[in-house]
Amino acid sequence: MNLLLMGLPGAGKGTQAERIAEKYDIPHISTGDMFRAAIKEGTPLGKKAKEYMDSGHLVPDEVTIGIVRERLGKDDCKKGFLLDGFPRTVAQAEALEQMLAETERAIHFVLNIDAAREELMARLTGRRLCRDCGATYHVIFNPTNVEGVCDKCSGELYQRDDDNEKTVGTRLEVNINQQQPLLDFYREKGYLRNIDGSQQIDMVFESIDDILGNLSNSAVKEIYQT
Ligand code: ADP
Ligand code: ADP
Ligand code: ZN
Repeated sequence: MNLLLMGLPGAGKGTQAERIAEKYDIPHISTGDMFRAAIKEGTPLGKKAKEYMDSGHLVPDEVTIGIVRERLGKDDCKKGFLLDGFPRTVAQAEALEQMLAETERAIHFVLNIDAAREELMARLTGRRLCRDCGATYHVIFNPTNVEGVCDKCSGELYQRDDDNEKTVGTRLEVNINQQQPLLDFYREKGYLRNIDGSQQIDMVFESIDDILGNLSNSAVKEIYQT
């Protein structure tokens, strides 16, 4: 299945992506994670992305489209993929349509996780991630059993540099402006499914699973086979 996850920063894309990727056995591709890995490794890509990410602005389209094109060309994406955080502009969405068409692929669903804006600031400033396995937690909404230690792998938790109040404010503003035309783009194509992201984490996953589970038995199979 070829899936896109959309939603403002903090909506719960990464949290749900972990679960979807595991259950449906498709690679989770997060452009934010790819940029953070490049920054950590000090690659030229990381050097290009860093100042945009630190300030909360989008990395330029040509850079972002390039890394996604390369990633979707890898063998593991033949069985499907879950894109998280891409596309964020209509230009990126158009480039994605084109690169998929070139390889005779198409998107099956665009899952838009919708959460109240007032909640996003609290979610982002309390977010913690595992340094080793990348699992996402929240100090209040999804705490680990032992403070600062990952439940899954015992790795150390950290806070992202850009999860501070000032940068979060810019990110929300930038993404709110970009979001509407993208949603319109995918609604017109018939791919868009809205999910109530203000529910508890497990309930959000159930809503997603209903959409994917129900349809993977019938409609999506047909799409696959044609
Ligand atoms: P979140 O969903 O919490 O905002 P991400 O990890 O998806 O976080 O993104 C972090 C940062 O990486 C963004 O603020 C932006 O600078 C950059 N980024 C990620 N995806 C894209 C994209 N598709 N286009 C441009 N910049 C991106
Ligand atoms: P995104 O990838 O969309 O930026 P994340 O999945 O990283 O969002 O979630 C942002 C923060 O909110 C994390 O700390 C996560 O644990 C928490 N979170 C995710 N989904 C929910 C939810 N449904 N209710 C409460 N907190 C949530
Ligand atoms: Zn871990």
